[in-house]
Amino acid sequence: MSDIAYVITGAGELTAVPAADTTAVKPGYAVVEVAFCGICGSDVESYRKGIPLPPSISGHEWGGTVISVGEGVESPAPGDRVSKTSAPSCGKCPLCRAGHHADCDRFSARAASSSPATHGAYTRFVQVPASTLVKLPDNVTDEQGALVEPATVALHGVRLRQPGLGGTALVFGLGVIGLFAVQLASLSGAVNVVAVDPDPVRRDAALGFGAVAAFAPDDPALQQRLMDLTDARGADVAYECSGQASVLTSAVPLMRNGGALVLIGAGMEPVQLVPALWLSKGLDVQTSLAHTRDEFDITVTLLSRGLLKTKGMTGTTVGLSRLPEVFADLAKKATSLKVLVDPRG
Ligand SMILES: [Zn+2]
Ligand SMILES: [Zn+2]
Repeated sequence: MSDIAYVITGAGELTAVPAADTTAVKPGYAVVEVAFCGICGSDVESYRKGIPLPPSISGHEWGGTVISVGEGVESPAPGDRVSKTSAPSCGKCPLCRAGHHADCDRFSARAASSSPATHGAYTRFVQVPASTLVKLPDNVTDEQGALVEPATVALHGVRLRQPGLGGTALVFGLGVIGLFAVQLASLSGAVNVVAVDPDPVRRDAALGFGAVAAFAPDDPALQQRLMDLTDARGADVAYECSGQASVLTSAVPLMRNGGALVLIGAGMEPVQLVPALWLSKGLDVQTSLAHTRDEFDITVTLLSRGLLKTKGMTGTTVGLSRLPEVFADLAKKATSLKVLVDPRG
């Protein structure tokens, strides 16, 4: 199983490195043949700006089939189809002992940041701790397996601040995470979900996933429609999934007093704020880092029951060998739909 893996090493640099050895499976680990790995917007941003992420993050949205498991692994078993989840919290550090599992350094995105893995899943075979895999039921497809991680990012944010039954939610940024946020806001009670993105293809997709209206960010009709829908109160909650730091200011006039702005996208640009505007509205700003391990089980259940839909979310599928040119293209212009990598190609 000698192979190559691609990692982002600098601005415009996607480097082929030798894939980690998967012939000897370590105790507690599983070797998985990757079926599909989604290209995350954060990977493209890291490549474009040359902000190096830990190698294990290059390709973190994936699913596949277990090939072999190490000593002590009861589940999953060889042949099981799985998706990658976040690492469980350590259970031992002071924050875990105080019950703050989501704040553990060993957990989730923070754990991925300190992972010794030399690459993510832009490769054919990976070896990961078996405890970081979630099994997929037969009716969840391999393509959906690669969407479980971004869906769970959206789920975490919506669970942190829900619009409430009858509420109104705004979703900024209609990539896959935003399109899941549209559906999850509806599932958790919103009667109005208003979606915002400059890309008309993505706006159409959001309408198909249940948004009542969709606007470009600079469309003056956005505020008018939102006020019409809410008796001039504004949105109960806004989910920022675009990674555009400017949403921190542009969302303020769209929110109701006491509303919540949930930061799911990781904006990297500096932004000028007028704190008094937040204060005068009594806005809550809630950060939402990644996900918790248990939330992946919820995502898989929602997908399996057909309560979360994915039809039309993904666009092209590309073979691993084309990855360098695909990244170069994506850095110039984002595609409307999620690109999946098929490592066998
Ligand atoms: Zn991602
Ligand atoms: Zn801990």
